[in-house]
Amino acid sequence: IAVNTAACIGGGVIGAGWVARLIENGLSVRVYDPMPDAAARMQPVLDNADRAYAKLTMAQRPKKGELVFCASIEAAVSSAQWIIESVPERLALKQSIYAEIEEHAAVDAIIVSSTSGIMPSDLQAQMQHPGRLIVAHPFNPVYLLPVVELVAGKLTDAGIIDTARTFYSSLGMKPIHVKREIEAFVADRLLEAIWRESLWLIKDGITTTEDLDDIVRFGFGLRYAQMGVFETYRIAGGEAGMRHFLEQFGPCLTWPWTKLMDVPEYNEELVELIAGQSDQQSGHRGIRELERIRDDNLVAIQQALKANNW
Ligand code: NAD
Repeated sequence: IAVNTAACIGGGVIGAGWVARLIENGLSVRVYDPMPDAAARMQPVLDNADRAYAKLTMAQRPKKGELVFCASIEAAVSSAQWIIESVPERLALKQSIYAEIEEHAAVDAIIVSSTSGIMPSDLQAQMQHPGRLIVAHPFNPVYLLPVVELVAGKLTDAGIIDTARTFYSSLGMKPIHVKREIEAFVADRLLEAIWRESLWLIKDGITTTEDLDDIVRFGFGLRYAQMGVFETYRIAGGEAGMRHFLEQFGPCLTWPWTKLMDVPEYNEELVELIAGQSDQQSGHRGIRELERIRDDNLVAIQQALKANNW
């Protein structure tokens, strides 16, 4: 389908990131968010994206799309072909929003959720035309990170994944089809494992937030910015490749190196410990400064990989 107008329902962290990516790629966007200061809160994200896109090497930077803030879901969706929902992570809220969208949207408009973990089959369960709903799970900052996980529910029309693949590719993204729906999809399951283990290592006093971040940044994080888990380990296996790597390191999976399966008790003490160390680590920098550093690094890394034809 030809998309020239998109609607964004919810303009918080993720909604604003979608708006930025869409208008930077020349689409018109209509936004609905009930917070009276939604436009003001979105502005820093749009400014960050402008700054980042000015630095990205693109054959030709498209003319920016028009952005309109709307006073209702109806006004946002009635002329849109692609409708992106990024409201808070509550199933009942999302379902009630789809009901309102379906009252006013064209019957062939695609409805997409940014949910981080709710199953698309649950999201679409009460819809009149559930075949047009999919999940397209993005990563923050949405305007700079290419990957987007596409997940169909039980009632999603065959073919919609391909339509979505084409659409997100046209926005400069790397869509990945998650073959079967599962809570939290793929990336967040991996991240949760790292997050849980990180909390243990700090709670138990083995390391600090700053040292743990340095271990990631100056170690496997650098590798992961350019090759994933399997290509990295293939190289670690040497000439004999993955089979050798598995023979060498497979057996130690049976010793409990990590506490990955259980979760540290979530209480005030843990919050104080983690947040206190994090304030000490980065409290001297404001959020805008951190975002600028992050965006400059993300642009530089992606350009280096492109220059290397990777
Ligand atoms: P957020 O709290 O920053 O933004 C939510 C926005 O929705 C707010 O601006 C709020 O005013 C608005 N909203 C509330 N009720 C609404 C309604 N009835 N209609 C329209 N808008 C309404 O949250 P977020 O981090 O942007 O998360 C949004 C969605 O994206 C969630 O489903 C979340 O799981 C998913 N997500 C978040 C991240 C992340 O890193 N934060 C990453 C990927 C996906």
